[in-house]
Amino acid sequence: MAAAIIDGRAVAARVRENLKEEVAAFHAKTGIQPGLATVLVGEDPASEVYVASKRRSSVAAGMADLHQHLPADTSQADVERLLRELAADPAVSGILLQLPVPAHLDPAPLIELIPFEKDVDGLTTQSVGLLAQKKPGLRPCTPSGVIELLDAYDVPFEGANVVVIGRSELVGRPVAQLLVNRNATVTIAHSRTRDLAAVCRTADVIVAAVGVKGLVTADFVKPGATVIDVGIHRGPEGLSGDVDFAGVSEVAGLITPVPGGVGPMTIAMLLSNTLRAAELQYQLAQQ
Ligand code: NAD
Repeated sequence: MAAAIIDGRAVAARVRENLKEEVAAFHAKTGIQPGLATVLVGEDPASEVYVASKRRSSVAAGMADLHQHLPADTSQADVERLLRELAADPAVSGILLQLPVPAHLDPAPLIELIPFEKDVDGLTTQSVGLLAQKKPGLRPCTPSGVIELLDAYDVPFEGANVVVIGRSELVGRPVAQLLVNRNATVTIAHSRTRDLAAVCRTADVIVAAVGVKGLVTADFVKPGATVIDVGIHRGPEGLSGDVDFAGVSEVAGLITPVPGGVGPMTIAMLLSNTLRAAELQYQLAQQ
């Protein structure tokens, strides 16, 4: 039997519609219009497309577009200066440093200049610690999008076996933390895992965040399991994921397609984080 498809575009559209209303209500209540400062250094074509899409979406949600574009040869000190200015600027609710930055820049100290209450990517050491300790803070966008999709389709992952394939700081680790915080029994598999297929067959939910095209095949999947594909690969035939969609959808109960699954959720959760950031700063200012 073919799996039911998780429609990420529809869920993302719903999240964005709700956010538009929440942004308007927050603006009416506080007089504050949430503002997103995307920071792009250089002219990487893929990054330009991503940033343009984030800017368009934030404006559509009623937020201020506070984009900053720096030339490719900007020094580390000048990027740091801009990030410090944005950190201190009360009009800026969220700061997003678009990665990768040009090779002469060291991204780690740049990311650390983003205060936790403006860290809409959820990548600073402080945000990672807040997630690990289950304290309020901003969570990374793609992992939050995975949880939002599971919730939207009422996937019962509390107590369930979830296998996350991948342990990156951007996706694998934070998605595993979010799932543990929601009481899933989580296994993190990675490049050194022995017999990955056997590990995955124990899963009620598989989250593939590997970066290897078509790695997850039908023999990895317990019949009826939910399969979430975070991978994105560009090929001559278009986009595809870490999951062999045709084969796996014959076995799984629910599955995300690529494109149209996790991808659309990432920007929706970025917008959600920008509003949460504005709310958090408002609360901190009241104390
Ligand atoms: P990454 O390269 O940083 O991490 C990949 C992880 O997979 C590593 O932890 C590695 O141990 C593990 N791995 C690699 N080969 C493996 C193998 N053969 N078996 C088991 N584990 C293996 O990648 P990332 O940043 O986490 O991204 C993963 C994928 O998700 C990429 O395709 C990326 O393009 C995509 N991505 C999508 C979105 C989105 O919005 N949909 C966002 C971020 C990343």
